[in-house]
Amino acid sequence: MNVERLKRRFNKMAEIGATERGGVQRLALSDLDKEARDLWMKWAREANFNVRFDDFGNMYARLNGRFPEKRPIVLGSHLDSVPQGGRFDGTLGVLVGFEIMESLKERELELQHPVEVAVFSNEEGARFPTPMLGSGAITGVFTKQHVYDMKDNNELRFEDELKRIGYQGEETNRLKQVEAFIELHIEQGPVLESRTIPVGVVKGIQGLSWHQVQFSGESDHAGTTPLDHRKDPLLSAVRAVYRINSWVNSLNDETLVTFGKFHTMPGTINVIPSEVTFSMDIRHPDRSTLLNRVEVAKRLVREIALEDDTLSLCEDLSFMPPVDFDHSLIETLKESCGHQGIEYLELFSGAGHDAMYLNRLGRTVMVFTPSTGGKSHCEEEETSWEDIKLASAAMEQTVAKLSLSRQEIIDT
Ligand SMILES: [Zn+2]
Repeated sequence: MNVERLKRRFNKMAEIGATERGGVQRLALSDLDKEARDLWMKWAREANFNVRFDDFGNMYARLNGRFPEKRPIVLGSHLDSVPQGGRFDGTLGVLVGFEIMESLKERELELQHPVEVAVFSNEEGARFPTPMLGSGAITGVFTKQHVYDMKDNNELRFEDELKRIGYQGEETNRLKQVEAFIELHIEQGPVLESRTIPVGVVKGIQGLSWHQVQFSGESDHAGTTPLDHRKDPLLSAVRAVYRINSWVNSLNDETLVTFGKFHTMPGTINVIPSEVTFSMDIRHPDRSTLLNRVEVAKRLVREIALEDDTLSLCEDLSFMPPVDFDHSLIETLKESCGHQGIEYLELFSGAGHDAMYLNRLGRTVMVFTPSTGGKSHCEEEETSWEDIKLASAAMEQTVAKLSLSRQEIIDT
């Protein structure tokens, strides 16, 4: 592949919505998103790819190969960003995919499968408040009406904005079953960088379970109630948070727990609270382990309530099961790294990605590049071109293995 051309395109794309401190701001279906889409479409037409967009504004560029009726190998990600976001999140995967497809075309190899690059709408969920909206819509996670009626902060509808920027296409243009979907993305965490490993082979996306925990006790006067006469639910809540966190820490595995919201009733400086509620977010890449962690956390809550003579309630808010990527694709990706002497690490994604839903259309895998300082969703987001080169090379060879005949792989 032509890394200089990839870099040129990357820098050109980063100019659209460029922020003062080196990031980008391109909210989904905004004028800047339209500008980025127009540029990408222009490149795709110049490269003589077949282009189309579907009824959610997901865009596709395609190289037919010898058997256009076969299932395609799809590479891709997203071009929208969060407010004051970085240049790499999403865009890198779109442009690396594009470069791989273009170099396949230039080498005039006989493709055994069509190859496509896909750009999905509103992945960030920063403007229309559901992440991975475009990929979720074509895979049956969300209904068309739900997506179309979704509104931004200014009460503007998804469908109206899609029409306004000129990217409402035909339903028949949606991506259907795929032979494979491969998404290259920045890690957005510190693991690869801290171990100085250039490529992450992503085994799946961890699952999450959200809960609201409530402790109730007895409200009373702060100045007249001796400490040993109190049933203070805040103390129970604090003890529960501390005990659950210590337990998770002692597991020393991939379990994560976060208590992000805290609320006391009545919430007055001189009153012992009557009720305390807080959120609990638990994550793990394995489904049954995740369920087990949730059960133990709930048991710890009940134990504390019993010890403190307070009452507890644990309400389930939502559950997203872990996603496992395809074993054969993971192996092919690892072999591609091995052949080229590229060091890799197998890991799970902590964040959601389009690949999570694309999993429903066929086998899927992701490739991670290191994030400098583990930072993402900010203007400081950075990945070195040395790392990008290695991850792209691993991905390119994987695509070649999937799309070319045995003889052509030997010849290349
Ligand atoms: Zn992303």
